[in-house]
Amino acid sequence: MPLTSASTSTCILVTGGAGYIGSHVVKALGEAGYRVVTYDNLSTGHPWAVLYGDLVVGDLAHREKLRDVFDHYRPKAVMHFAAHIVVPESVRNPLKYYRNNTANAVNLLETCLELGVESFIFSSTAAVYGDPREIPITEDAPLEPINPYGQSKVLVEKILADCARAYPFNYVSLRYFNVAGADPRARIGQVSPEPTHLITRALKTALGQIDRLEIYGTDYPTPDGTCIRDYIHVDDLAHAHLLALEHLLSGGTSRIYNCGYGHGYSVREVVDMAREVTGIDFPVVEGERREGDPPALVADSSRIREELNWQPRHDDLAYIIKTAWEWEKRLQEHPEQFQN
Ligand code: UDP
Repeated sequence: MPLTSASTSTCILVTGGAGYIGSHVVKALGEAGYRVVTYDNLSTGHPWAVLYGDLVVGDLAHREKLRDVFDHYRPKAVMHFAAHIVVPESVRNPLKYYRNNTANAVNLLETCLELGVESFIFSSTAAVYGDPREIPITEDAPLEPINPYGQSKVLVEKILADCARAYPFNYVSLRYFNVAGADPRARIGQVSPEPTHLITRALKTALGQIDRLEIYGTDYPTPDGTCIRDYIHVDDLAHAHLLALEHLLSGGTSRIYNCGYGHGYSVREVVDMAREVTGIDFPVVEGERREGDPPALVADSSRIREELNWQPRHDDLAYIIKTAWEWEKRLQEHPEQFQN
């Protein structure tokens, strides 16, 4: 990433920068020469994951603390990652999601407006589309979330659109498809006490931490009967954030972009690739469908490619799984390094 003189003095505030995706974006910002401050309550994030800039431990519910941080760092833009992301939990406890993902986003937006921050990048999700009628999915597809997690993100997108109409304020909302992989040097990656994601579960099965990988449903209307997803490497996603930031800082208007490669892999294809990459023939069983899983989610990402010239560098399932594998092995071999 070229280092521009403009970026070296520009501070970016990253909420949730100690989490999985946020920490990869902090890394990309730091490498590009931006000053970074991470604001994170460490509920699921980790101090060791913040490779660049300062870490302020704080919650988005604490308005005064947030204001102090803005006052001190005077960020030019905010990137907002801090959110709860577990779909079944959002079904059981929707208010937790509306409080943290939606109400706290309003706190953050009010602080931005009070302190004159006019550029905002939002972590959105393919879950805003629910069970899409057409594949690949364009940004203009109807927003029909099927769970409170997706709904909590749709609400923020609507609030952002209203803010952009009412105030001197611009945003980019990035709708993530299936984010996976890790830093190629295995310094940071996904950590979860109870992982639910396919690639992570497959690799933990290969390491013997999970007895057997269950395939959730083999009777979907797809070529091999298992669900299809568009897996995107976390560093390509981080790069999309940098382009979105440059767009806003150079005066660009509010935009919404899908972030995915535009093609998908079935669960069976992912399992086969995970066995190939690891060289381990880990046990797999076929099980029932998991509730709320649409058969296929594949992005039409032509808008971000055309408008921001986003060019993925890691559109390669083997690479995605390999980087995640190196990370999982490091977590297993050196748990003491990732304790906090
Ligand atoms: N999946 C699976 N076994 C697992 C975890 C996931 O078969 O142990 C399937 C899941 O049903 C979905 C796909 O893998 O079809 C991707 O799931 P993941 O949780 O990784 O991401 P999601 O698409 O739900 O955000």
